[in-house]
Amino acid sequence: MPEAVQEDVYTRIKTNLQDAKETINRAAQAAGRDPAEVRLLPVSKTFGHDSIRAAFAAGVRLLGENVVQEAQRKHEALQEELPDLQWVLIGHLQRNKARYVARFVTEFHPLHSTRLADMLQRRLDLEDRTLDVFVQVNTSGEESKHGLEPADTQAFISTLKEYDRLKLRGFMTMAPYSTDKELVAGCFRQLRELRDAALEVDERAAELSMGMSADLELAIQEGATTVRIGSAIFGTR
Ligand SMILES: *Cc1c(COP(=O)(O)O)cnc(C)c1O
Repeated sequence: MPEAVQEDVYTRIKTNLQDAKETINRAAQAAGRDPAEVRLLPVSKTFGHDSIRAAFAAGVRLLGENVVQEAQRKHEALQEELPDLQWVLIGHLQRNKARYVARFVTEFHPLHSTRLADMLQRRLDLEDRTLDVFVQVNTSGEESKHGLEPADTQAFISTLKEYDRLKLRGFMTMAPYSTDKELVAGCFRQLRELRDAALEVDERAAELSMGMSADLELAIQEGATTVRIGSAIFGTR
């Protein structure tokens, strides 16, 4: 373990990562799925460099953040020390921040408009980079949530073929904070059904980024291929 890593933080995060992986394995097996189909994306938003160093020492190479400037600050501070650490943006992005994403982000999960796609394409051209993208769908119908209307996803997927800098990987959604399991599972199921239909239009659209600390088991039951886990790994925010 490198000297800069705090041992107590490391032990806690390593244990939490193992527990999260076990939860994923159990949920996948219960759903008759191969656990290797489900990727764990740790979400480090609001947590500092000590937590990130500890996660890296425990084997993490991909981290989710929901605010691009916060991700960029962490990236710049740690890129020499942790060179192969990659960043995934999972939170809403204003179009005027697309240039930050184009510079260093590897994966972008909240793509939900052609105007944002246009801006990302332009900025990625300037940086000569590509970006893996997930299309965010508002499956809960809540006004507070971003994302495409479910009815608009097919048309949107067809337009993405024109953006050579955007590499479509699949879909992303957030279920409501609710103890109503059927309501939460219904959102995830809807995303899976949209994905199944979209695969007819673009065979790249295979992945499902859905499920967080509170609802990852339901998401895996409904087909999640990436679960985005923050508090269960890094602690309460
Ligand atoms: C914060 C966040 C997560 C992780 O949430 P936890 O409840 O801490 O696991 C997942 N997805 C998005 C979009 C987030 O903003």
